[in-house]
Amino acid sequence: MTRIAFIGLGNMGGGMAANQARAGHEVLAFDLSAAAVQKAVAAGCVAAGSATAAVKDADVVITMLPAGQHVRAVYAAEILPHAKAGALLVDCSTIDVESARAVAKDASAEGFRFADAPVSGGTAGAEAGTLAFMVGCDEADFAAVEAAIGPMARTVIRAGDHGAGQAAKICNNMVLGASMIAVCEAFALAEKLGLDPERFFEIASKSSGQCWSLTSYCPWPGPVPAAPSNRNYEGGFATAMMLKDLKLAQEAAAKAGAATPLGAQAEGLYALFDRLGGGGKDFSAILELFRGHAPA
Ligand code: NAD
Repeated sequence: MTRIAFIGLGNMGGGMAANQARAGHEVLAFDLSAAAVQKAVAAGCVAAGSATAAVKDADVVITMLPAGQHVRAVYAAEILPHAKAGALLVDCSTIDVESARAVAKDASAEGFRFADAPVSGGTAGAEAGTLAFMVGCDEADFAAVEAAIGPMARTVIRAGDHGAGQAAKICNNMVLGASMIAVCEAFALAEKLGLDPERFFEIASKSSGQCWSLTSYCPWPGPVPAAPSNRNYEGGFATAMMLKDLKLAQEAAAKAGAATPLGAQAEGLYALFDRLGGGGKDFSAILELFRGHAPA
């Protein structure tokens, strides 16, 4: 049994912390939202009164927070000054490469092992313990990181040194944002052409249009029961979060001198959907934009 501090129990962190508890670990859980903490306790975690209290005696500290500024702040104020000597620190949030490298540098300076380990697989993967982790860490630390995240993972791949996990994640999510838009456009066109959307799904899912956005996360309600489209696009991966990731990709592309025109288009379309009020909806709700509907 390992003592794990888990900070950030939202759409993703809630399911991930529950899987650590299910694996028999002691999980000290903290979130600014009392409701999120209560949910984690119902799933077998122990409530911690603060992030500081959670990390004090933990062997492993896992964070699953919204963005770079949250991770930097929680590390600077609560984790690095209070974590147990020798603790393994793993940030699973999706954040900018610079923040990940800055936190890694500060953690190393304090003698901690650190990994950026963002995930893919959505809330369903978080709940089922089948996430894909892309890890940036020292090679010598990888075995320990892999063991620590095992109960939440189906796949764990070391992308490279500190920051490489985040680089892999923003590239992956640029594919996801653009592919979801392509799938939504196709459904809206199919509807306009008088083609039954469910029949289109049946055909495209067995044809060259097949992709994760279609067959695992279908934006059209019905064909994929676990997809957020069946619950009015609630929960899941918020449009505002997708927009954050696409911005990160564009910032990284500008700095690196890479040409990413489809990524730029995807960012613009998600920014528009966010402005229209869709920011809190799952990112697959952008289907409504192409159907000419306002976000519900
Ligand atoms: P979320 O908003 O549901 O959860 C974030 C949680 O962090 C909230 O419960 C919030 O209260 C908590 N929090 C914020 N500041 C805090 C602090 N200082 N101390 C303690 N708790 C704090 O977001 P989410 O969907 O769970 O996403 C979390 C991260 O995972 C993001 O970086 C996101 O980009 C990434 N991600 C999300 C998905 C997805 O499908 N939702 C998939 C892959 C990666």
